[in-house]
Amino acid sequence: MLGAENQVHHKPMNQVPTSISVDHERGVVHFVWEDTDGLVSITNLRRYCPCAECQGHVGEIRAVASQCDGVEAIEMVGTYAVQIFFNDHHNTGIYRWSYLRSLVRAHRELDAGDVTFSREGELSA
Ligand SMILES: [Zn+2]
Repeated sequence: MLGAENQVHHKPMNQVPTSISVDHERGVVHFVWEDTDGLVSITNLRRYCPCAECQGHVGEIRAVASQCDGVEAIEMVGTYAVQIFFNDHHNTGIYRWSYLRSLVRAHRELDAGDVTFSREGELSA
């Protein structure tokens, strides 16, 4: 993980999480940043997968139909994102920090399935 010198030079939305942990029993992933933290269910991470296969190449990011509730691995992509390997063998989603922070912020509304996000990962509805 990165040291404090990297965090000083980035806006909070670009900060690398200090911890990402999967709670398989509860079916959630816990993301911790220096200034905030929160839970997103595995199901909602899968439903809101931002990859082109799930979302196409234009328009807002919205929920896709999926019952997947398992994660096999979460791997760092450089210092800007994670790639999530779901147990339905889907693994093309690259989740940038700003998008994960948006998912955390909206986690209570995600279950309804009508939340949309801009391509930059900010909550837009
Ligand atoms: Zn996807």
